[in-house]
Amino acid sequence: MSAFELIKLPYAADALEPVISKNTIEFHHGKHLAGYVNNLNNMIQGTDMQNLTLEEIVVKSDGGIRNNAGQILNHNLYFEQFSGKPSKTAPTGALADAITRDFGSFDAFKDEFQKKGATLFGSGWVWLSANKDGKLVITQETNAANPIQKGLCPLLTFDVWEHAYYLDYQNRRPDHLAALWQIVDWNVVEKRFK
Ligand code: MN
Repeated sequence: MSAFELIKLPYAADALEPVISKNTIEFHHGKHLAGYVNNLNNMIQGTDMQNLTLEEIVVKSDGGIRNNAGQILNHNLYFEQFSGKPSKTAPTGALADAITRDFGSFDAFKDEFQKKGATLFGSGWVWLSANKDGKLVITQETNAANPIQKGLCPLLTFDVWEHAYYLDYQNRRPDHLAALWQIVDWNVVEKRFK
């Protein structure tokens, strides 16, 4: 298998403004994520890991390799779930039904998700995932962890590393998280749920 590549964003760098600035996107995707891709490729060069998928590396490895692979997987899911002009601002169909069933309402889900993002101590990610029975859960994962390490299927994530918001929001992490709902592309999240 060839080396892992930096994903291309499915939108222009300024498309998510004012929720996420062009400046933040350029550093976050072009520097931070690109750095993780370069690190991982250097670390696995000449090893059996080159024949594995990103998901397999995250589940099977540890240390620096898992951290860099995890950050690539996390950021790919993160960047690909946004749109400057989402076609709908809330889920519909089976995902909407599951959110109502497991959290009470869409608003209650958003409140809990934001709260878990705001209260995650240090660097990490807040996730909406489905377990093997299709039940939805919200988890806090520190540093580079991904819910697949717990056997969950990741659906939606907000990055709470400071590099994700500090240029635009400084210390106001809760304000950043509240704004992100405007750019979630629920069509992408629904596809992950299927
Ligand atoms: Mn990040």
